[in-house]
Amino acid sequence: MYTYWKKKSHDEIKQRVFAALRENINYNNQNVLGIPASYLDNKVFNQDDSFLQNAPFITTLIKNPNHIGCHTLGNSEHYFKGTQEIEKELIEICAVDILNGEPNKQDGYVASGGTEANIQAIWIYRNYFENEFNAKREEIAILCSEDSHYSMDKASNLLGIDIYKVNVNQENRELSNEVVKSALDAAKKDGKKYFAVIVNMMTTMYGSIDNIDFYIEELEKSGCQFKIHIDGAYGGFYYPFTKNKGKLTFQNKHITSFTLDAHKMAQAPYGTGIFLIRKGYIEHANTKASYVEGEDFTLIGSRSGANAIAVWMILCMNGPFGWQEKVFILQRRSEWLSVQLRDLGIAFYNHAMSNIITLKSEHVSPKIASNFGLVPDNHEKPNWYKIVLMDHVTIEKLMPLLDALKS
Ligand SMILES: *Cc1c(COP(=O)(O)O)cnc(C)c1O
Repeated sequence: MYTYWKKKSHDEIKQRVFAALRENINYNNQNVLGIPASYLDNKVFNQDDSFLQNAPFITTLIKNPNHIGCHTLGNSEHYFKGTQEIEKELIEICAVDILNGEPNKQDGYVASGGTEANIQAIWIYRNYFENEFNAKREEIAILCSEDSHYSMDKASNLLGIDIYKVNVNQENRELSNEVVKSALDAAKKDGKKYFAVIVNMMTTMYGSIDNIDFYIEELEKSGCQFKIHIDGAYGGFYYPFTKNKGKLTFQNKHITSFTLDAHKMAQAPYGTGIFLIRKGYIEHANTKASYVEGEDFTLIGSRSGANAIAVWMILCMNGPFGWQEKVFILQRRSEWLSVQLRDLGIAFYNHAMSNIITLKSEHVSPKIASNFGLVPDNHEKPNWYKIVLMDHVTIEKLMPLLDALKS
């Protein structure tokens, strides 16, 4: 059932990471004079063996491998091949064991975050339409919902392509054939024929999940070319572990790529956005980086190998069943909070497969919002405030909020 993802003990994880670091370059013993890299500054960072021997992540930070480039295809910098192997395994865990892809059929890398991974996807599709269909830049557009993350607007601005937003129902945050068609019609009127489509697997503000079929049906009817990217920056380590990952996996032939952020629900250090794409596409983002062995198919350039190690360690320590239990607990807490709010007559939005609960602002005074760190949809004029049921957001911490809302 799980091909790559196995629960490991702390000892097994330690052995594997230290073995990988031994495969990487050793700046102390080897004579490598031409790369602008070394260990972290030993005047500042403790490199004492007794301190490091039980700390594989900190050791990786100190040894500071550079995972520049994409390691799932072609060659990569051989100086860091040990830890690159662990990153490749991490990409397989995410693509195959979490998102039901076929083994070795996806490329991917650990990006700086969800923003980069989303821009990477749109960059690839823009170039794909230009390279394969001779599309003009003015004919290419981004299509996504109004609840999509603002990284889509960054992508539009940076890549010089227009963006069209589909309206959502303001109460249930859902799409429909009609709203998708109307955004698509507006784009076609402006001469757009090629679409990079972003489908949300849990939005940032509401935790809502787009029904991908509305996009597929309307785009197929329109006769336009399109490629679908799933933005699971928030939901990637959550939604696939609820009861129903449904249509949002690599089993869906209409989906080409995914973003999953390990630095949100997976509690990994920042710098762990995961980008995954079916084989045969990432080549469209190739920069012939002549000084990098194996060229560069990523947006970022130099990046810390320690980030990949951190995510791999987190997933292996918990194991796939531990992860299901983690999500199960957060689901139960969300249900508990939903019941309490309903009893109090407070209007809120919650998708049944999500741990975000978004309250209508009329029930929340500015004082409550600031006392409990509730995050508004709009800092100037809030309509909604969200509660994110993270690991540390326990029922004990929610009870005082409910008391405050009551009075
Ligand atoms: C957080 C988030 C992003 C952006 O991720 P960063 O890691 O902050 O760059 C993109 N999309 C969604 C849905 C998000 O929740």
